[in-house]
Amino acid sequence: MSTRFVIAGTPAARGMTLGRARLVEPTQIGVDERPLPEAEVEAEVARLQGALAHARDELRQLREKLHGALAREVGEFIDAHSLILEDPELTEGLYALIRQGRYRASAALKRQRDRLVAAFEAIDDPYLRSRREDVDHVIGRVQAALARDTTPAERQIASRVGTVLVGETVAPAELAHLTEHGVLGVVTTGGSPLSHSAILARSMRLPMVVGAHEALRHITDDDLLLVDGTSGEVVVHPTAQDLARYRQFQREQARSVEQLARLKHERTRTRDGVEIALYANAELPADIAQARACGAAGVGLYRTEFLFLQRHELPDEEEQFAAYRDLVLGMGGAPVTIRTLDLGADKADATGLALGQEPNPALGVRGVRLAMRRPALFATQLRAILRASNYGLVRILVPMVTTGEEIAVVRALIEDCARELRSGGHEIADHFELGAMIEVPAAAIALPSLIRQLDFIAIGTNDLTQYLLAVDRNNDQLATLYDPLHPAVLRTLHEIIAVGTRARKPVTLCGEMAGDPRYTALLLALGLTAFSMHPSSLLEVRQAIAGCDRAQLLGLRIALLRAQSRAGIERVLRRMR
Ligand code: PEP
Ligand code: MG
Repeated sequence: MSTRFVIAGTPAARGMTLGRARLVEPTQIGVDERPLPEAEVEAEVARLQGALAHARDELRQLREKLHGALAREVGEFIDAHSLILEDPELTEGLYALIRQGRYRASAALKRQRDRLVAAFEAIDDPYLRSRREDVDHVIGRVQAALARDTTPAERQIASRVGTVLVGETVAPAELAHLTEHGVLGVVTTGGSPLSHSAILARSMRLPMVVGAHEALRHITDDDLLLVDGTSGEVVVHPTAQDLARYRQFQREQARSVEQLARLKHERTRTRDGVEIALYANAELPADIAQARACGAAGVGLYRTEFLFLQRHELPDEEEQFAAYRDLVLGMGGAPVTIRTLDLGADKADATGLALGQEPNPALGVRGVRLAMRRPALFATQLRAILRASNYGLVRILVPMVTTGEEIAVVRALIEDCARELRSGGHEIADHFELGAMIEVPAAAIALPSLIRQLDFIAIGTNDLTQYLLAVDRNNDQLATLYDPLHPAVLRTLHEIIAVGTRARKPVTLCGEMAGDPRYTALLLALGLTAFSMHPSSLLEVRQAIAGCDRAQLLGLRIALLRAQSRAGIERVLRRMR
C-alpha cells in the first residue's frame, strides 16, 4: 500500500494537475547486491518477468493514447523502447545473470544496463550513441516497476493521466517542448518562480512547483502526483480526499473562468473612474490570441529571445519579420512593444550567441550589451522590426540599458536601418518610438537625464529587484530575500514612475508584479497607470483595479514610502484593502 506524503516547494505557475511522475534525473533506485540463495532463483526470475510485462504494458497503453503528429513523433520513441524490452539478448542475458550469476533482479538489470551503455558509447555515430538514453529509460522503467508497490486502484488512475516532470531544473527551451509531449506539470528541486522557465510555464499554463528539495529523493518514476502550483505542494500517492479536492479545483476554475469572462469586454477603471491601461506580455503566438480575447490595450512586452531559443541556427531577417508582422497583425491595430533580444543570464541559447561561460552571467554580456557586440545581428533584428512597423503601431524596447550612450547608439542604428530599408524600396512607418527597460538600478537613478532620450519606459521589476537587492532571481536559497516589498524597491519604483510622469513619457510596469493582484493596489498607490502582464492574469487584475479607489490609494502613498520595513509596508497595505 503506498502511503500519501507531501513535498513542499515554492509555487511558480498556478493551477493544479494530476499526473504520473517522470523523473528527469531518475532516483538511484536501490540495487540489491546481496547474493541470491538458490531456492529463490526462480521466484526472482518470475519477479523480473512481472516487471518486464508491466513495463511493456505501460508502453502499449502510452502508445494507444497518442494521436496525430504526437503519435508519429513520440510513437517512434515508444516503439524503440518496446523493441529494447522485447530484445531476447536483453531478457535472456538478464535471466542468465539471475540463474547463473545469482544476481537479484535489480542487480542484473544494472549489469545489463552498464554493458549495453558501454557498447553504445563505443559507437562512433553520435545519433546511435545518443540511443543509450533509450536504454536508460527502458531499464529505469523496469527498475521502477520492480521497486514499486502501488495498489491496483492507483495503477488504474495513473494509466489514465499524463506525466509530471520531476527534475533538478528545466531549461526554458526544454519546457517549450514539454506540453506537446503530454507533460501536464513540472516539479523541480531547484529553480525559482522568477526564472524564465517559470515565466514560460505560466505562459503555457503549465502548473509548476520549484524548490521542492526532497522531490528527487522521495518520488519514484510513475508515482501518482497531485501538483498544486498555487500552494507549492506536491502530494505523492494522493488519497480519495485529495482527488476530491482536485475535482473541486477544476469546478472552481471553470466557474472563475466564466465569471472573469464577463470582464473581457469591460473597460479597466478604478472605483473612482480612473482609466488604467492593461497591456499583455507575450512570448508565444497563443498569448496574442488570449491578449485580444481579454481586451488588452496592446502588447507591453514581446520577449523576442523566445524566437532564438530551442534552435541551433539564428532566425534570419525574413523569419523574424514574419513573426513580428504576425504579432502586429494579430493585435489588430493596438500598439505592440517589441523588445530587442535579451539573451544571456538564464536565457542561454543553443545558437552559441550568448556567452555561456561568463563567471557572472547576470552581470555579464546580456540584453543590449550583447546587441552592442553583435551589430550585424542586432541590425537584422531591427530591420525585421522596422519592416513589421508597416503593419501597425510598433514600439521598440531595449533591455538592460545602463547608459545614455547605449540609447544613442541604438537610435542611430535604427535610423541607419530605416534609411537603408526605405532606399531598398521597403515601406516602413515614418516615426518610431524607442523605449528602455528600467531594470538596472543605475538606469533608475540616472533616469532624470536618460528620459530625454527616450519616448517611453518599461519597468522590469524582475531584474530591478534582483539587482537592487543583489539577490539572484533564480536562486531558491534566497527566495525570502527576493522581496518586491522591500522599501528600497518601492521607493525606486515610485521615483521611476514620478520621473516618467513629470517628463510626460508613458511608463509601463512589465515585471511579474504587474500581473499579481496582491500588488495591484500598491502599484496604483505609487502612481502607476499602465500595467503589462501575461494575458492569463489580465482579467483578475482588471477586477482588482475595479475594487480600488485611486484617490484614496494615492493618499496612502506617503505612509507607504515612509515605512521602514516590510512589516511597516504590510501594515499600510492592509489599510488599502
Ligand atoms: C523584468 O526584468 O522585469 C522583465 C520584464 O524582463 P525579463 O523577465 O524578461 O528579464
Ligand atoms: Mg529583465
